[in-house]
Amino acid sequence: MTTDLAVVDATVVTMDAARTVHHGATVLVDGSTITSVGPPAGPVDARRTIDARGAIVVPGLVNAHTHLAMTMFRGLADDLDLERFLARLLPAEGALLSEETVAAGTALGIAECFRSGITTALDMYFFPEASAAVAAAAGFDLRGGPVFVEFAGADGRRFADRLAWAGDLLAATAPDRRWVCPHSTYLLDAHQLDAVGALAAEHGARVHVHACETVAELGLVRDRHGRTPVEVLRDSGLLGPGTVLGHGVHLSDGDLELVAASGAAVAHCPASNQKLASGFARVPELLAAGVPVALGTDGAASANDLDLWLAMRLAAYPLAAREGVGTVAAADVLAMATTAGARAIGAPDLGTIEAGRRADLVVLDPSSPSLTPSFDAVSTAVYAAARADVRWVVAGGQVVLDDRRLTTVDVDGAIAAVRELGPRILAATSR
Ligand SMILES: [Zn+2]
Repeated sequence: MTTDLAVVDATVVTMDAARTVHHGATVLVDGSTITSVGPPAGPVDARRTIDARGAIVVPGLVNAHTHLAMTMFRGLADDLDLERFLARLLPAEGALLSEETVAAGTALGIAECFRSGITTALDMYFFPEASAAVAAAAGFDLRGGPVFVEFAGADGRRFADRLAWAGDLLAATAPDRRWVCPHSTYLLDAHQLDAVGALAAEHGARVHVHACETVAELGLVRDRHGRTPVEVLRDSGLLGPGTVLGHGVHLSDGDLELVAASGAAVAHCPASNQKLASGFARVPELLAAGVPVALGTDGAASANDLDLWLAMRLAAYPLAAREGVGTVAAADVLAMATTAGARAIGAPDLGTIEAGRRADLVVLDPSSPSLTPSFDAVSTAVYAAARADVRWVVAGGQVVLDDRRLTTVDVDGAIAAVRELGPRILAATSR
């Protein structure tokens, strides 16, 4: 029988429950699904074969907290803390954002993701319909939904209109892909948060929210709500097994218990947190409490790139430095970028390379000097691989990065479109 795609002779880091690593293995793909993984059973008859001799193959990476369209603001407000960063960014967003500019920024973000081995992202931004359309055309798995802030956002919607629009958008979305994205508990009042919680319950939507990112945020939320962000989310019906907390840095012991009991996940964003001096998430305590700790890049406006290889190392190194070597091992770090991400977003078909799962694969360059030698494929992937080593990417069975060439995204067009926005962005920022 002919299959659609065969990745042959690879070292396959499956990230299955036993964390199996196959050597000299073949991955067969039919349509969008992996049909077999392991030693080749015989000659392979495939429409397309990727010769991965000597290559490490890992599952497509899941970016559990990002704002893809913010690639357009990359590097606009560096070396500032979160509060001053937002003060510089918000006028630019107000002046620039539209269906067209969000589509352009998202296309650039998806190009960057694919070249980084990211096949799925949980997004939060204005004009989510524009982002979703770009992602669908590119074959990129973008999750997200209506964003909520208290002010009329960049799309000009006041809160009541926003709620009605969001209800229509959710009703038109497949049930397992419904998300609401209340920005945070500092940019929404209690009534608004309650309304978003009720909307999520009505539509069975999952929740993507910033929470406990900085010490300053804790102060704002205490002044506004008299509680911690996690307590506010709980009281608004926004903390549950379908919730992803972006950042989750400054969790009190009580918050940690609430998060663990709720089944919510944390999207750890070490690059953003370290660059903005937001702090260090309590990863060992979260893991010990059974909280899924996924990995996010945050938006490129704050952390400057969409690089989960960097994020893996920036997660690993401070943990080793602060908690001791081996407290969180390489495989646990890779799990954050794969299986925990899949669990956080409620996508059991993602995150591992197993028969029956969606065919999201990253094939690292077998001829990369910096991946040679490799005594342990997991260690190599976490501690040595960089996105420059990503050579082929398969997303939903489609070869979207083919020997480093993007096949579904017009990267030159995306770069030109975002570059063209530069003067408008600068003019809006300096006002
Ligand atoms: Zn964010």
